[in-house]
Amino acid sequence: MAEVAFEQVQKSFGAVQVLKHIDLTVHDGEFLVLVGPSGCGKSTLLRALAGLDGITRGRILIDGKVVNSLQPKDRDIAMVFQNYALYPHMSVRENLTFALKLRELKPQDIDARAREAAAILGLEDLLDRYPRHLSGGQRQRVAMGRAIVRDPKVFLFDEPLSNLDAKLRVQMRAEIRALHQRLKATTVYVTHDQIEAMTMADRIVVLNGGVIEQIGAPLDLYDDPDNLFVAGFIGSPA
Ligand code: ADP
Ligand code: MG
Repeated sequence: MAEVAFEQVQKSFGAVQVLKHIDLTVHDGEFLVLVGPSGCGKSTLLRALAGLDGITRGRILIDGKVVNSLQPKDRDIAMVFQNYALYPHMSVRENLTFALKLRELKPQDIDARAREAAAILGLEDLLDRYPRHLSGGQRQRVAMGRAIVRDPKVFLFDEPLSNLDAKLRVQMRAEIRALHQRLKATTVYVTHDQIEAMTMADRIVVLNGGVIEQIGAPLDLYDDPDNLFVAGFIGSPA
């Protein structure tokens, strides 16, 4: 189980304040979708949670424990990126197991986890292939598999589907939601696609200029937006 909390979090790059007093709780097992226009701070917020960037002020807590000074590897978080970030010189199997080899796991346990992740994502027949011989959808599945094998408390997705064509995007949305139903891990999913947010989220957070405009269930935001920005963002077609 994992509850994530941002308390009065601020993040500046030099003189530019990118996140402004973010207060946000992500419930245990929730699929939270973070939306907002390009440059509003979505990736910065994910990176802060993952520990890839430090924050300027405030606290980030996982299960009540302040993680501000914890290294990324000690946060029990796995992140899936838009560009997959696979190792090109490693097979699918090696991509899946690489992170585990840094831990003190028995080889048979590593192998079992890789096979389980491959089964969940339909990658069993691709384990010996290299990324250059995979389609975009297959690469994204490997990227997700690499997150799953680590058995993290929290999954972060940063616009994972933006490089895929429209048809595959629709299919992968359903796959990611099904994966969440199965694993029930706390998830923060970033997109700038309104349809993706509406169809996937338990709750949506609308971010604008480093400030949270509104948080709510998709239909609540759609039917009862707090302001014109939310109305325009959630209401208008993608
Ligand atoms: P989003 O993911 O919502 O598109 P980002 O979080 O990537 O937005 O970026 C928010 C703002 O922070 C942008 O104006 C961006 O230029 C700036 N920014 C992001 N990373 C850095 C960095 N490492 N150094 C300086 N500015 C940055
Ligand atoms: Mg981004």
